[in-house]
Amino acid sequence: MVENEQLRQELRRCEGELQELRAQPLVPCEGCEHSQESSQLRDKLSQLQLEVAENKGMLSELNLEVQQKTDRLAEVELRLKDCLAEKAQEEERLSRRLRDSNETIASLRAQTPPVKYVIKTVEVESSKTKQALSESQTRNQHLQEQVAMQRQVLKEMEQQLQNSHQLTVQLRAQIAMYEAELERAHGQMLEEMQSLEEDKNRAIEEAFARAQVEMKAVHENLAGVRTNLLTLQPALRTLTNDYNGLKRQVRGFPLLLQEALRSVKAEIGQAIEEVNSNNQELLRKYRRELQLRKKCHNELVRLKGNIRVIARVRPVTKEDGEGPEATNAVTFDPDDDSIIHLLHKGKPVSFELDKVFSPWASQQDVFQEVQALITSCIDGFNVCIFAYGQTGAGKTYTMEGTPENPGINQRALQLLFSEVQEKASDWQYTITVSAAEIYNEVLRDLLGKEPQEKLEIRLCPDGSGQLYVPGLTEFQVQSVDDINKVFEFGYNNRTTEFTNLNEHSSRSHALLIVTVRGVDCSTGLRTTGKLNLVDLAGSERVGKSGAEGNRLREAQHINRSLSALGDVIAALRSRQGHVPFRNSKLTYLLQDSLSGDSKTLMVVQVSPVEKNTSETLYSLKFAERVRSVELGPGSRRTELGSWSSQEHLEWEPACQTPQPTARAHSAPGSGTNSRPGSIRRKLQPSG
Ligand code: ADP
Ligand code: MG
Repeated sequence: MVENEQLRQELRRCEGELQELRAQPLVPCEGCEHSQESSQLRDKLSQLQLEVAENKGMLSELNLEVQQKTDRLAEVELRLKDCLAEKAQEEERLSRRLRDSNETIASLRAQTPPVKYVIKTVEVESSKTKQALSESQTRNQHLQEQVAMQRQVLKEMEQQLQNSHQLTVQLRAQIAMYEAELERAHGQMLEEMQSLEEDKNRAIEEAFARAQVEMKAVHENLAGVRTNLLTLQPALRTLTNDYNGLKRQVRGFPLLLQEALRSVKAEIGQAIEEVNSNNQELLRKYRRELQLRKKCHNELVRLKGNIRVIARVRPVTKEDGEGPEATNAVTFDPDDDSIIHLLHKGKPVSFELDKVFSPWASQQDVFQEVQALITSCIDGFNVCIFAYGQTGAGKTYTMEGTPENPGINQRALQLLFSEVQEKASDWQYTITVSAAEIYNEVLRDLLGKEPQEKLEIRLCPDGSGQLYVPGLTEFQVQSVDDINKVFEFGYNNRTTEFTNLNEHSSRSHALLIVTVRGVDCSTGLRTTGKLNLVDLAGSERVGKSGAEGNRLREAQHINRSLSALGDVIAALRSRQGHVPFRNSKLTYLLQDSLSGDSKTLMVVQVSPVEKNTSETLYSLKFAERVRSVELGPGSRRTELGSWSSQEHLEWEPACQTPQPTARAHSAPGSGTNSRPGSIRRKLQPSG
């Protein structure tokens, strides 16, 4: 068939080619090589066409043959199917028979002998059956094996059964035992129940009996309570009566309360009145105490001496120069701060004052010493603080100080401010300041608009005997700022006024007058205290021959006023009837503040260097003399020397008597109390 197909394709192809060739126009081409080939091909074509016809015949033959063979194949297949069905039927039948035989064998096996017989007959019966038999035998064998196995199993089972039988027997025995026990327990329980029942009955009977007894007692109690109730009723009646009585009282209570309030009010009023009168009494006592205090203070001032003299030694400065002239000539007593030693012309001289400040003492140390004086000003006392000493000894430093380290003036005002502040709840204070200078016995206002104007000191027209300076400017100050402004104003006034302020100020007295006026808010009491801070003119003496003209006049004025100051102090201390205040402008101006119960402090400034020892000696003598004015009451008048202006000018340091040894002779153990003793007395001028 394949070959046939190939040939067919070949044929188709050839036919196609032939068609093509036919379609081409026939070009006669003589002598062309193709014509020969064409004829050859034509021949071949015809040959091939022949072959195709031949093959076509063969193909149809073959097709026929294939058809026949296919038919036959279908027939065979049909037959095969039938055979297979037959075979299946046969197999079915055989298997059915085998089953039957097996069953028969099994049944026969049950009755062995006839089975054997049957087997024999069956053996004879057919070979087929024989075969089946052999199969069955093998099966039988297998079954017998199984049977044996089953038998074995059965045996085991029997064994097990036996075991379980035994177990059952045992269990039965146990059950019987348990049952017997149960029986016994039941019996016991019954017995116990019986006894419990009896107990119960007995208890009930007992309880009943007891209850009866208790009942009886309760009955008896009840009878008692009944009788009690009968007695309580009257008590209840009285209580009710009481309650009613109280009720009545409560109703009357507001009236009572009002009554009580009235009486209490009256009592309180009375008490307040008493307190008031007590207060009045206290106020009266307070005033009396105030008076007393002032009196005591006066007394204290009188006893202590109202003039105190301290010395302050300034440090050696650059201005002192160098060499032997600038060596230190002042020493101190390490155990006694009231002694100062001076080496003058090779001889040691000692002085005793109230206190001596060494060059190392600070401004605050010095201020500490004068603090009490300043506060007494608030209580209405007048106070004078003088700085005395030769020019350059430190008077201005002590009084004014430097801006960084202010002196007494500023510190005093600060202290006054703070003290006044503290008392502000009871007292009202005003603090005013004035500044003045005395030059050549002329008083000028440093805070005024006309600093050149000469001021006069006058008696108060109110007849109080007090002095006042008409036209002296007074500034009220409340703070440190205010003071600074005032000082600055005064300083500016002076610098414009004087070409050489330093020189001028060393020859004039500068005064800062602080007035503290107070009113006691509760009593209306008024006080006025004056604090005079005086930077005195230089105390150095000018030789008569050395100075002339202005310089001599200045020196004379200074000398006169310082002498007058000494005289006044002397007269005051000796309680002389006449005190020569009017001898100088300074003493006259300060009259109020120097007399009476006022207090005075003299700070004697000392230069420590060798070249100044003469002036130092002079200053210390002046100081000691001022201080020694006050002595025992009997000796006051007799020991007091007169102190003329001439003396101040010409008094030579002739009496160099006080030797350090003189102190050693004073009574041992006499201590500070004996200070106004030997040295001071020895210093007194004989006449
Ligand atoms: P006075 O006013 O007596 O003429 P000053 O107060 O002007 O003397 O003092 C003279 C110089 O000595 C000033 O330069 C001053 O600063 C100085 N000075 C004075 N005392 C002291 C002191 N305690 N500590 C330091 N310097 C001082
Ligand atoms: Mg000065």
